[in-house]
Amino acid sequence: MALIVQKYGGTSVGDIERIKNVAQRVKTVYEQGHKIVVVLSAMAGVTNALINLAHQMSPQPDSRELDVLMATGEQQSIALFSMAAKDLGMHAHSLLGFQASIKTDNMFGRARITSVNTARIEDMLNRGVLVAVAGFQGLDTQGDVTTLGRGGSDTTAVALAAALKADLCEIYTDVEGVYTADPNMVAKARKLRQISYEEMLEMASLGAKVLDIRSVAMAAKFGVHVHVRSTFSDQEGTMVVPENIIDEKLTVRGVTYNKNDARIRISQVPDHPGTAYKLFAPVAEAGIVIDVIVQNISKEGYTDLTFTVPKTDFQRAMTILESQIIPMFKAGKLEGDTDIAKVSIVGIGMRNHSGVATKMFDVLARENINIQLISTSEIKISCVIDEKYTELAVRSLHEAFGLDKDNPPQAEA
Ligand code: ADP
Ligand code: ASP
Ligand code: MG
Repeated sequence: MALIVQKYGGTSVGDIERIKNVAQRVKTVYEQGHKIVVVLSAMAGVTNALINLAHQMSPQPDSRELDVLMATGEQQSIALFSMAAKDLGMHAHSLLGFQASIKTDNMFGRARITSVNTARIEDMLNRGVLVAVAGFQGLDTQGDVTTLGRGGSDTTAVALAAALKADLCEIYTDVEGVYTADPNMVAKARKLRQISYEEMLEMASLGAKVLDIRSVAMAAKFGVHVHVRSTFSDQEGTMVVPENIIDEKLTVRGVTYNKNDARIRISQVPDHPGTAYKLFAPVAEAGIVIDVIVQNISKEGYTDLTFTVPKTDFQRAMTILESQIIPMFKAGKLEGDTDIAKVSIVGIGMRNHSGVATKMFDVLARENINIQLISTSEIKISCVIDEKYTELAVRSLHEAFGLDKDNPPQAEA
């Protein structure tokens, strides 16, 4: 008998029929005598609709109240699912985040799980109860409802799996696993049988939203084996596991893209110690996360700085820079561009291979795509390009690195 945590995403519980389908799936495992915790997302579109409502009510909705509102999406799903499960003869019981003792910090809208007390869930499981927990939500130390950030139900599932020492954490979604590229963009993308935590962490942070980045970090920290698979088929999905279990070593395992950032350039900044600190400190203090940064070689004591920020923070960043930084440095010009995309290639095999970056640049050059910024780590290379070339870049890279083939030429012996 195993203890299994299963998470079903928004599309998987998108309507009444689909929720019934999920209950039917769960029944098969329940009847085998396993202990099951089901974590559910809000029905597809519901979280967006709630955010929309909040913005109709207030130009800048209060973050505490926004979390109270957003958390209702998952509340609907667990109640409806538990009704369906009971109708199918299961002893089901729904729990909101706080009832499942999921504690978080107090960062409304992007709270981090700090602890999970599993006593109540364990007691229920021992009594043969099928436990349905609302994803994406918790309670802070003040007793206020928090939400974990978009895609956060994955993190609820992995946190519960870690705390319960579950045998398996299954993430059921609308694709059959983790692919070499977003299968909704690249028709020839292939499903990966396995992927390491480290590669998945990079892919998630660079745009592959199939798993929320925090869920991957948590799975890596606690060694939770995660199986990403489809709600709509019985096919094996992708196992996200420690690197030493991976038997297929590829130089490049995936291509990702992210259209959520904007680029900012400040020219004629004095090139002396302390400039970067003075420039970025007020932006960081405003809670704006800066990603890729490039500083040009200086000319006559002045340099240019280019960096990216989330599109959602672009206007705020521009206002801070315009009002505080430009006057302070008497910098020449502030320019912004929201029509950019970051295209990346990821793979642990890159550590031992040279020429991967050159090949990426060559592929983009052949397609006449200009690279605006480059950033690298041990296992990834990212290029910022004009947003309108995203699909072309992703597809060309996917093909050039042989990812659409069963036996990619780049596979190591
Ligand atoms: P859920 O609602 O189940 O949490 P998400 O929409 O958050 O599902 O994530 C699944 C989506 O992730 C897929 O529909 C797919 O378009 C997207 N995706 C992006 N990159 C990848 C990838 N490399 N492999 C699989 N899916 C990906
Ligand atoms: N319902 C939340 C969202 O849409 C959380 C999740 O689905 O993972 O982001
Ligand atoms: Mg998701």
